[in-house]
Amino acid sequence: MNELILIVEDEADLVQSLEYNLQQQGYDTRVALDGQSALEALDEKRPALVVLDLMLPDMSGLEVCRWIRNEETMRATPVLILTARGEEIDRITGFEAGADDYVVKPFCVDELMLRVRAILRRSQVESQELHADKMQIGDLFIDFAAHRVRVGEKEVELTPLEYQLLKVLVIRRGRTQSREVLLRDVWDIEAEVMTRTVDTHMQRLRAKLEQCGEWIATVRGVGYRFEAEEP
Ligand code: CA
Repeated sequence: MNELILIVEDEADLVQSLEYNLQQQGYDTRVALDGQSALEALDEKRPALVVLDLMLPDMSGLEVCRWIRNEETMRATPVLILTARGEEIDRITGFEAGADDYVVKPFCVDELMLRVRAILRRSQVESQELHADKMQIGDLFIDFAAHRVRVGEKEVELTPLEYQLLKVLVIRRGRTQSREVLLRDVWDIEAEVMTRTVDTHMQRLRAKLEQCGEWIATVRGVGYRFEAEEP
């Protein structure tokens, strides 16, 4: 079955071009011309990806994006934002909206198709790894089924929280995770005043992972990232 892509955009020409090109690439498409129809379409069927314009007639694309991120069954759906130059990129990809990627209008269709494929590939790898039993990165071995972690031959004793933190970082490796996102996905709280907590636990996790702790990079002013390549 083809993957379904929901296009949320009100410019008819652009919708037509997106539909045509995505279908040419073998995707199924569905179109919503405003935010309300987008929410209805999402409620009906979870797409593999949402291509979302920021400027919609009835609401902001950011609102649609936030709705997706707050909906338990929808949360993991990748979102690619279409934005006019000058709009705030930090807000789009940051904690506020949590989009996966964006392209600036006017864009070339080939570029958009590349992004679509990259996001879908990444999201497939993530969902496979979410269900994987074991993983090895350098000297780091994680047995997801048994909740066990080794560095080389040495067993690492992690608290359930540290384990969860490591798992989230590893599965999303190569991508920066803000402290706010980590609080939401690891601690399950949404309090911006508690970001220091993340730092404290990260420090402990790093120390326990010994040489493998170097895989976790600090992204100044933002959060952390598990490196995709050997550091
Ligand atoms: Ca628009």
